[in-house]
Amino acid sequence: MNKVSERINRLAESATLAMARMSRELKALGKDVIALSLGEPDFNTPEFIKDAAKNAINNNFSHYTPVAGLDELRISISEKFKRDNNLEYTKDQIVVSTGAKQSLANVCLSLLNPSDEVLLPCPYWVSYSEIIKLAEGIPVEIPSSVKNNFKITASQIEEAITEKTKMFMFSSPCNPSGSVYTENELRDIAKVFEKHPNIFIVSDEIYEHINFTDEHFSIGRIDSIKERVITVNGVSKGFAMTGWRVGFIGAPLWIAKACNKIQGQVTSATCAVAQKATEEAMKSDPKSSTSHMKDSFLKRRDLLLSELNNIEGIKTNIPDGAFYIFPDVSYYFGKSDGETIISNANDLCMYLLNNCYVALVSGAPFGNPECVRISYAASEEKLLEASKRIKNQLANLK
Ligand code: PMP
Ligand code: GLU
Repeated sequence: MNKVSERINRLAESATLAMARMSRELKALGKDVIALSLGEPDFNTPEFIKDAAKNAINNNFSHYTPVAGLDELRISISEKFKRDNNLEYTKDQIVVSTGAKQSLANVCLSLLNPSDEVLLPCPYWVSYSEIIKLAEGIPVEIPSSVKNNFKITASQIEEAITEKTKMFMFSSPCNPSGSVYTENELRDIAKVFEKHPNIFIVSDEIYEHINFTDEHFSIGRIDSIKERVITVNGVSKGFAMTGWRVGFIGAPLWIAKACNKIQGQVTSATCAVAQKATEEAMKSDPKSSTSHMKDSFLKRRDLLLSELNNIEGIKTNIPDGAFYIFPDVSYYFGKSDGETIISNANDLCMYLLNNCYVALVSGAPFGNPECVRISYAASEEKLLEASKRIKNQLANLK
């Protein structure tokens, strides 16, 4: 018997996690899988952060904390927002959650009513559309392509706005395209929202510290709209802390209070020990504590780009941040190796996984079905081997 709710039936499984699961299953069967599917740094959490967690355990930080997070952590986040982003959020405007994923869910559940529309610049992170649907909102895609560096324009946003538009949600640096919106581009976008005072802007800045342009601009800095901006961030990516499960928002007080209320009913605060570790991460100078990872990501990006550019039919942009490349692979659609016909990016990903054991993620759940996502959070050796396998395998498609 299966009587799951309609809500669950409407929800797609996370495509990134599904691909990670399939590669683990193949690995368990003894296959030599190179998994470039999951967006998670392959670095270890820096020692000074681990030491803070060890001290927290020794000092018996084993109790519930306030739902929105420890005061000292929220103060350190408030100072981080000021220091790194020039954003003014008081401690009470900050809510710490079990990963930025929960932060995004809290925000959507706090703001969306049934049938409210949420504008999503394509490509967007896979969970945005599903979290929006869970909150009974309607995701509205704004298209982009490799030709324009996967960025949308202010006028595209203007055209997509209807009287039902409640929210605009985006990430910069972007998962999956790696594109970074410049200050000028964000100022142009803000001008559109100045004309539409009922629209909220969710700015997901979780890849802030993996930005090769060194210019991270937070849209929440723009005075004319800042009362409607929710800034989402976390430690998973920049500080290599995916498993610690800490994300946070800075938001107008009434939104922070609403998120606190939901979280108080469904999870309470995140892990006390992880909060103490995050406090140290927040107090550190990100330039020195995270730059070794950024430098490696940049080297790997260049390596993978040059390998991909040697493969027939693959079109790439030059990603300015995060650790993904999002090539257009539509050249292969309609081709076959005599047995398997490749009709779309899902087929292509399954073809590569089953035949040469390289796991990528289809661009379809990110809103760009002509693309695939490759995570280069892997060693140079693995990236070279994966590129070789992909090139050889695709050469069979005619
Ligand atoms: N936003 C984006 C754009 C992401 O890629 C991720 C990846 N996990 C998240 C939010 C959520 O991160 P976490 O829940 O690990 O903090
Ligand atoms: N955000 C990462 C990704 O895009 C981690 C997996 C997930 O949470 O979906 O792969």
